Amino acid sequence: MSEPSIFTRILDGEIPSEIVAETDRLFAIRDIAPQAPVHLLVIPKTQDYRDVSELATGDPALLAEMVGLAQRLAVEHATGDYRLIFNTGAGAGQTVFHVHAHVLCGDLDEASLRA
Ligand code: AMP
Repeated sequence: MSEPSIFTRILDGEIPSEIVAETDRLFAIRDIAPQAPVHLLVIPKTQDYRDVSELATGDPALLAEMVGLAQRLAVEHATGDYRLIFNTGAGAGQTVFHVHAHVLCGDLDEASLRA
């Protein structure tokens, strides 16, 4: 059993964060260091998958659920348009190895591609 990730600790209430949405298998929080006017993270409750490649292989339906929740949040928090980013691997900027999607909305002209 691996150590709980920072996101698991947020889900368990050990680290404070505002959970903005929750479904049976997912939750969403505000990124602590926003890179866009709206910057949310959509996260599976399970930490079984390190990154989006593992998730796509292991549970593609859960990946589709993540896209669906991202869409819903973009409608609720912005105009419905959004940028969805999965940093995959340390060399691409991934720092938390519990798969998560960055949902960026608002004026994205200045938003970094590296969420
Ligand atoms: P990545 O670098 O793609 O692995 O994304 C990890 C993201 O988690 C970063 O954008 C961080 O700002 C964000 N993050 C780290 N700790 C927290 C926290 N306690 N609450 C909300 N977001 C966090």
